[in-house]
This record gives sequence, structure tokens and C-alpha cells, in this order.
Amino acid sequence: MSLFDVVVVGGGPAGASAARFASEFGLDTLLVEKRQEIGTPVRCAEGVGKSVEEFIDVDEKFLSKEVVGARIHSPDGTYFDMNDDDAGDEVGYILERKIFDRELVKQAGESGAEIKLRTRATDLSREDGRVKVSLQRNGGVETVESKVVVGADGVESRVGRLAGIPTNLKLDDIQSCAQYLMTGLDDVDLDYTHFFVGNDVAPGGYAWIFPKGDNKANVGLGVSPVMADKKASQHLTDFVDNHPQLNGGKVIEEVYGGVPVTAPLPELTADNIMLIGDAARQVNPVTGGGILNGMRAGKIAAETAKKAIDDGDLTKKGLQPYEEKRQKIAKENKKYYKIKEIFQELDDEQFNSLVNSLEGVNVDELSVTGLVTKIAVKNPWIKDKIKDILAL
Ligand SMILES: Cc1cc2nc3c(=O)[nH]c(=O)nc-3n(C[C@H](O)[C@H](O)[C@H](O)COP(=O)(O)OP(=O)(O)OC[C@H]3O[C@@H](n4cnc5c(N)ncnc54)[C@H](O)[C@@H]3O)c2cc1C
Repeated sequence: MSLFDVVVVGGGPAGASAARFASEFGLDTLLVEKRQEIGTPVRCAEGVGKSVEEFIDVDEKFLSKEVVGARIHSPDGTYFDMNDDDAGDEVGYILERKIFDRELVKQAGESGAEIKLRTRATDLSREDGRVKVSLQRNGGVETVESKVVVGADGVESRVGRLAGIPTNLKLDDIQSCAQYLMTGLDDVDLDYTHFFVGNDVAPGGYAWIFPKGDNKANVGLGVSPVMADKKASQHLTDFVDNHPQLNGGKVIEEVYGGVPVTAPLPELTADNIMLIGDAARQVNPVTGGGILNGMRAGKIAAETAKKAIDDGDLTKKGLQPYEEKRQKIAKENKKYYKIKEIFQELDDEQFNSLVNSLEGVNVDELSVTGLVTKIAVKNPWIKDKIKDILAL
């Protein structure tokens, strides 16, 4: 039976990052991916902040479009702009994820990781301080042994369940998403990513237009299944119908999927096992963006695996550095979860009032305190809610 230092389950951005760094740290690493091809089908609006450059040099082959910032639209049609630096982890570049994900896995392979496609991890069992991983492949099942297993198997993670790490999501903590890739969008300002808030547009979530160049864009939305009175797909049809600038566009691809938008989980480790990315519910609960947090967590998991193997302690205690270092992601997401809860209580008049108070303001010139003051002066009802966020 083959023995690895690290087996990574899942070849998305989180798993590719974990496999790459584990190999760079000299660990004997296997990456398994159940699909026959990395990167397809794409279930993503493909927006990413410029800090992606921490991990990869941005190359034209996987860059669809560079945008200057985010435009936030209220239900009454007013908007304000933020530049890409202030707009978070999803604004800056729009990727071509089919190629981006492949490049990340290529990096892992070039660093020395073994890669097996069409290989599904189906079971885990711990024995003598190691993990036996059952892999379904070519109609048969083979077993490999590993010192550490990294679960990067996405929103439906099986590794978490098999390892006994609680990862269940409340219905309210899943965003139900629908997206079109549209072409022929001559009337949209494609230099910005566009976010549309409002309870008719996308109850409990938001709608987006993420430009992809050549008059194409990902046009989609996420809704809370608890708050929405119709399916995400119907909301999307209505959104397109109600936005004249989209009317001339043609749909050339459709995407449906769920995004975990939950508060940070208390535990992401068990003996020999760590969870990262969507499997670990590390998505930003407001924006639904998870690419960068998954990649960051992948690097931390690889560093932890290296240390645990060097120290000869593969127990949950030996993997504690992962729990400690991933708190940076958790702290941010705790704050965003609170913001999500506040957003979900707002009615359309309140959305209008918030956006109106920033219309025409040069948001980029304001400090966070300046921005908060500006909002609070015109919207006294939100003062206490803002205090709750700042207290976190
Ligand atoms: C509609 C939509 C729009 C989005 N837009 C954005 C956005 O603009 N920006 C952003 O940052 N994020 C966005 N996200 C979220 C983003 O797509 C995810 O956070 C990101 O892909 C998570 O990466 P990951 O590596 O954790 O998981 P994934 O990318 O889901 O990769 C998991 C991989 O594991 C494989 N796998 C699963 N089970 C097994 C198994 N048992 N054995 C082997 N392989 C397995 C899967 O096939 C998959 O390839 C969006 C999500 C949706 C649904």
C-alpha cells in the first residue's frame, strides 16, 4: 500500500494550494479529484481580489477582465462606487476559472505532488496513527495510507462527515445561487463589478454582474432559501427581465449551486485531519466569495502538516497550529456574519437610505471611521447595529 505524508481530497483552489505548499515543504503529497477534468463545470462568478497575486502571477490566459471597482446599486436605482482596494476579496480581477484552477493544480504538480483525476475518496479509517483512504478509481477501489488528510472537497464535504467534524449547515446559512454567462451586453458599464441589493431582487442575498470582457458577463444572484418565496432561477429570470441594460444579452451558459454562508465553525481538525475552503465553510458570509480564503487555508494546512510530521505528533493537538492560524480568517468572517444578519433584516427603504447616503461620496477617500460616521449621521437607526459590528 502506498504511503503519503499528505493526501488532499479535492482539486479546487483550496486543495490545489494545500497540495502545492505541502510539496514545496518537501512532503510526499497526493491530490485526488473526482472529476475527470480540473476546473469544470465552473460554479463561480469568478471574481477575486488582487491579493490573489500572493499565490500566483496573474496571467492573461486565466484573466478575463480587470475591473476598477465595485458599484453598489440600491432598489431605487441609486448607486455608489468603491475602488478595488476597498471592495474586498472578490473585486479586482474576473478570472477564467476553468483555466485558473488548472494552473493552480499544475503548480502543485510542478512542485512534486502526485495528481489523480477521476478518483473519489469514499472512506477514511484511522489505524496506528495513520489514515487509510479508500479511493474509487477506474471501477475499482484502492487504498492508500497517509499521515495527514486535508479535506478540500467543497460545499458537500464528505471528509468532514467521515472525520466526525460537525459541518452541518442550517438552511438559512446556505445561499442558493443561479447564474448566467451572458454575451452581447453593450449597455452595461463593464469596468465595474455590479452588486444589486433589495428584497425583491435577491432576498437575503444580492444579485451581481461580473464583467468578463468582450461584452460578456456573469449575471447571477444568491438568495436565502428561508427568505425567498421563489427559486433562485426564477429570481434571476426576473432580474434580467427588469434590467433593460441586460435585455439585449444572450445566455450562453447556466450555473446553479449552493454557497455556505455560515459563522466560522468551532473546529476544523480531528486526529490526522484538517478541513479547508468550502469544506471548512470559510466563505465570506456577506459576499459568498471563497477562493482566496480557501487558498490561504490551504497554505496554513500545509505548514501545519509539515510541523506535525516533523514533531511526530499527528493528533488533533499536533494540528493545533492550523486552528490558531486560521483564526485570522475566522475573525473576519465572524464580523461578516454579523453584517449578513443585519442586511437580512433591512427592508428596501433602508437599503435605499443607506446607498443614498453614499451616492456621490468619494468613499475611497474616507477612513472606515469616516465612512461609518457618514452612514450613521444620515441613518441614525443603524447606529446600534454598527456598534455591535465594531465590538467584534
Ligand atoms: C454561483 C457561485 C458564484 C460564486 N462566485 C464567487 C466569486 O465570484 N468569488 C469567489 O471568491 N468565490 C465565489 N464562489 C465560491 C467559490 O466558488 C468557492 O468558495 C470555491 O470554489 C471554493 O474552493 P474549494 O477548493 O474549497 O472548493 P471547490 O472549488 O468546490 O473544489 C472542491 C473539489 O473537490 C472535489 N471533490 C468533492 N468530493 C470529492 C471526493 N470525495 N473525492 C475527490 N474529489 C472530490 C470536487 O469535484 C471539486 O473539484 C461562488 C460560488 C457559487 C456557487
